[in-house]
Amino acid sequence: MKIDVVSLFPSYLNPLNLSLLGKAQEQGIVQIAIHDLRDWATDPHRNVDDTPYGGGPGMVMSPVVWGEALDSIREQAVVDPVLIIPTPSGQPFDQLLAATLAREEHLVFACGRYEGIDSRVGVHYSRDERWDSVKEVSIGDYVLAGGEVAALVMIEAITRLIPGILGNPESVIDDSFSRLDCLVEGPVFTKPPIWRELEVPQVLRSGNHGLVNQWRKDQAQARTESFRPDLLSDRAEDPL
Ligand code: SAM
Repeated sequence: MKIDVVSLFPSYLNPLNLSLLGKAQEQGIVQIAIHDLRDWATDPHRNVDDTPYGGGPGMVMSPVVWGEALDSIREQAVVDPVLIIPTPSGQPFDQLLAATLAREEHLVFACGRYEGIDSRVGVHYSRDERWDSVKEVSIGDYVLAGGEVAALVMIEAITRLIPGILGNPESVIDDSFSRLDCLVEGPVFTKPPIWRELEVPQVLRSGNHGLVNQWRKDQAQARTESFRPDLLSDRAEDPL
């Protein structure tokens, strides 16, 4: 998979070179390129923003500069890329969207700052047939200062689903939100069997796989009911 990230703060994306993703880049499973948006600013001050139409506080990122940046990335691309614009007002990012995007060949992340990117950028590229699609995506109901952290979150969640990235591909099967029942995962334990008077549940040490599986299902159900009852009600409303 090829991933381009355009940002005003390229160093924010340095963690992409660490750990699993660092290794995946060395192995050629993922190619990541980070671009400085200011490289496409043409005025003497290399401005990338302007005052908002209609008034109000803050600045809005210029569609002119973004257009230059995205056109140039598209020119280098060998397949039609998916453009992802992180924004708190977008569709929620979840495991299903991560799995869908993990099957794409080329993702481009446009990281906003200030009051965000001029809305015409998303509209324009969603009409441009040289782009696979445009997704405006939110990573949660809160407001960050910029799209870089949102891009890091999405890239990590997406790429760990690409075959060859995780040491043990089976580790994603029982992950929270990944199973068909869409529950969160229950508690996990390792050695020692007793730590500070807290004992690992006996059933997990029994060697009885049937009992272990049933216990894990019950725990996943209980934890979902307690922390994420919305997941259970969503499921009840789903006609499938
Ligand atoms: N005024 C915008 C609003 O209320 O929708 C918020 C702009 S925010 C200060 C600046 C940038 O941070 C956004 O353009 C986006 O790139 C990023 N951002 C902030 N919160 C985000 C979130 N929850 N999900 C994805 N991106 C976010």
